[in-house]
Amino acid sequence: MRILFASAEAYPLAKVGGLGDVAGSLPKALRTLGHDVRLAMPRYQVIRAAGEEVGPFSVAMGGRRHEALLRTTDIDGVPVYLIDHPPFFDRPKVYEYDDDGKRFGFFGKAILDLPEAANWWPEVVHLNDWHTALAAAFLRTTHATDARYRDIRTVLTIHNLQHQGRFGRELFDWLGLSPETWNPEGVEFYGQLNFLKAGIVYADRVNTVSPTYAKEIQTAELGAGLDGLLRSRAAKLSGILNGIDIDVWNPAKDEWIPQTYTRSTVEKKSKNKESLQRESGLAVDAKAPLFGLVGRATDQKGFDILMPVIPDILALGAQIVLLATGEKRYEESLAAMAKGRRDMVAYLKYDEALAHRIYAGADFFLMPSRFEPCGLGQMISLRYGTVPVVRATGGLADTITDVTESPRKGNGFLFKEYTPGALLDAVHRAVELHRRGRGWKALHLRAMAADLSWTTSAKEYASLYEGARAA
Ligand code: ADP
Repeated sequence: MRILFASAEAYPLAKVGGLGDVAGSLPKALRTLGHDVRLAMPRYQVIRAAGEEVGPFSVAMGGRRHEALLRTTDIDGVPVYLIDHPPFFDRPKVYEYDDDGKRFGFFGKAILDLPEAANWWPEVVHLNDWHTALAAAFLRTTHATDARYRDIRTVLTIHNLQHQGRFGRELFDWLGLSPETWNPEGVEFYGQLNFLKAGIVYADRVNTVSPTYAKEIQTAELGAGLDGLLRSRAAKLSGILNGIDIDVWNPAKDEWIPQTYTRSTVEKKSKNKESLQRESGLAVDAKAPLFGLVGRATDQKGFDILMPVIPDILALGAQIVLLATGEKRYEESLAAMAKGRRDMVAYLKYDEALAHRIYAGADFFLMPSRFEPCGLGQMISLRYGTVPVVRATGGLADTITDVTESPRKGNGFLFKEYTPGALLDAVHRAVELHRRGRGWKALHLRAMAADLSWTTSAKEYASLYEGARAA
């Protein structure tokens, strides 16, 4: 099957979060299954290797034609089409510009103009998150009369429902979407243009990145205003758990960690702990339970329940290493809390190599998320034998089994209520098991035994594409 996989980010070319990991690894797994998958993404400033020039192409928008250049490169054998349009993308960051609506509206349209320029026509266009979602609306409206597009089907994956891409009516006019789409059954959402809604309405299949999150987004609590629409589309909505790239995240071969190890040499992991303690200025102490966290410092990731219990966690004799960027208020409090301490360090930056050292060096990994579409941190931790302490929501609930409840099957610690007290209780249980020692090694080994590869999920995506083609 020919599949065009469109994403605003893809590791290692450009990664902001989990979407980058998925776009950098799922297409590879689909190619292994024999599908002709190619990626489409904007060429940002960080993508320095220019890539081979395919040719110029123009995208009509805002009453004029924008001349862009199509280039190709690859990610481990997966062909990548780079949409090179410097006015929108030759910038240091991927997101968070005032004109993101124009930038990704342009991208959504360019995805459909790309096949002609590339002389390669996909059977399925796989859209990811709001940045690409408008392509589904263009395909079914402005492009509907063009026979070349008639057999193309679309799949939209929602990696995070909270980010919808909402903009004013003027953007709708600028983009040139068909006027008939401006209504509550189309792309309009309370007087605004909603990119993600457009994708949900017009894509042939919609899925999200874990079965539990697929259910949760149909509730008022986690539906972010789109739960009604999602319930009405339940028949074309599913959940497929993400995998991780087990070559990138591989404790046996990881070049970024001081000491490699496998399940049969798991005791060597302690070298990574020692080295992480040393580089972080913590007391070098094998017995102190070390809690790691790598992620965005936001409410979604549970920082509002984590912050108040950090002193209690440290009071248990534990150590904490955080690698996070996010809301200023959290960054400032974390810096203030960690100042001058030998049991806590807060790295407030984005650092891929340090993330690997934390996944490998910590005993536990904290992920107290308020909601979590899938979550990669807990899966990466399992791969490194680092025991996750997580809240039972979304993909966390689908990947982690509580060891207190299921001593023979558990691979981590789960808590249900979204409160500081419930989080602290799970941390207590973790510290207790670490201290007691009994069952600790078995827990490590079970964590490392989990199948986290894309193999199973890639097959589910292939079935989803088949379903879309039959639609
Ligand atoms: P998100 O909601 O942010 O996408 P995920 O758990 O799905 O959360 O994925 C986060 C990814 O980003 C993981 O690969 C994690 O290791 C990485 N990451 C997050 N913050 C940082 C950081 N400050 N430095 C390095 N890597 C980070």
